[in-house]
Amino acid sequence: MPAQYGPEAVPRNKYLAQREVLDWSVRLKGVDSPQRHLVVPVLEDVAWMNPRRPTDWSVEVGRVNRSEGGGRSRSAEPVDLMIANIGELLVCPPGGLDLGLIPNAVVAVRDGRVAWVGPARRASAAVRLGPETVVFNAGGRVVMPGLVECHTHLGFAGHRAAEFQARVAGWSYDEIAAGGGGVLATVRATRTAHREQLLRNVRCHLDTMLGFGITTVEAKSGYGLTVEDELRLLEVYREVDRSHAVDIVPTLLAAHVVPMEYRGRPDRYVDLVVEEIIPEVAQKRLATFCDVYCDQGFFDLDHSRRILEAARANGMLLTLHGDQMADSGGAVLAAELEAVSASRLEQVGEEGIERLAEAGVVAQLLPGTRLSLGRSEFAPARRLMDNGVKVALSTDFNPGTCYTENLWLMGTMASCYMHMDVTEVVRALTCHAAASLSLDTEVGSLQAGHKADVVVLDMDDHLQIPYHFGINPVRAVFKNGTLTVDHREKRTQL
Ligand code: ZN
Repeated sequence: MPAQYGPEAVPRNKYLAQREVLDWSVRLKGVDSPQRHLVVPVLEDVAWMNPRRPTDWSVEVGRVNRSEGGGRSRSAEPVDLMIANIGELLVCPPGGLDLGLIPNAVVAVRDGRVAWVGPARRASAAVRLGPETVVFNAGGRVVMPGLVECHTHLGFAGHRAAEFQARVAGWSYDEIAAGGGGVLATVRATRTAHREQLLRNVRCHLDTMLGFGITTVEAKSGYGLTVEDELRLLEVYREVDRSHAVDIVPTLLAAHVVPMEYRGRPDRYVDLVVEEIIPEVAQKRLATFCDVYCDQGFFDLDHSRRILEAARANGMLLTLHGDQMADSGGAVLAAELEAVSASRLEQVGEEGIERLAEAGVVAQLLPGTRLSLGRSEFAPARRLMDNGVKVALSTDFNPGTCYTENLWLMGTMASCYMHMDVTEVVRALTCHAAASLSLDTEVGSLQAGHKADVVVLDMDDHLQIPYHFGINPVRAVFKNGTLTVDHREKRTQL
């Protein structure tokens, strides 16, 4: 165990208890004590706090009660928010290989963007506080970028809990689909659902995701499979995106499965996708990405190529589901068409891995589907990473094969079954997931200029992220610099 992770690394006598710091601050700075609820320590005091010993201070968010702010500041404008007393800050730089860990750190935010990050000892020279600056005391905890959930089938009606029980009883997914279950069961339920119901469902799942610290979500259509129903799902995403804190990245997945009315006539359905659905969606600017389920029993390579080329010609970015059932050329096609990402990849072969690496296609791996299906073969994350492919992790949130919003759990599964270490896991949930959406200059990292989507964890050591599993480790979430989720009342322990 590296020395910096042990409690012995903290010279305890150097630090004061939090209440003492407050009193010291009050005494030294002459702040009016009746206004204690508004008082936060100034930067010099923050540096005194024990970064490894979170304390429960009844007021962790307040406003700086000093009009002069940080008088020695170099920056012209005061910041809107300062997250101080961070035990470990994980910057997750998109261009690096590490977590960009800064111990005893500060994050400063202005206009919803990260203005400055760095060690607390340098903050007073770099960050200017003003009377309106909100200061959040992270209490020595881990702070990291908001998670990016890069692959979901978010909008649908109904559930398939009975299918789950059928699988428990020994039925295979294919047997269930042949009996009228599977994706087409959700298509039937979604087509007949009221729009209000779809809006409610999407908001509800996004609320849960936000509570888990997810601040950006990719959302696929694919449960409509007609012009009207695919557009309806994408319009639901647009409406929710405008009113919900979480940012939605919409993806057209009309080629999810061949719908029942086109059974035995896949060519005709591909005509509909290429000639009507894609142009209509593009004209209304309803989707950033186009996705295809390119695999045995779904859409073959020729169909997939035709759909993706049409989408590209209509200005969409590309991704695909591929090489899940067999090494059927999905990864090679993704590389050839310069897709931003490719997902599934449980059976991807050597050629596919090489081509993904050459073309810079990000692999979205979805270990939760293996859990839900009771299967043991996972995507070859190690071989992908060792060959230079960026790996992102996602739940593949959907009602059939992975009904969970707990993205953290995917990190634990990737650790245990795919041999990804904690650095690889955290990058896969943040900057690599953002790269898989072509958003790594905006989200997934806490570098200056990125969106101030910030998560405070109830952990003082980032090694705990995959280790303490099945729980929600989130203490607070800032979206665009605004405190949006506050679990401090619910979680008091580390
Ligand atoms: Zn999927």
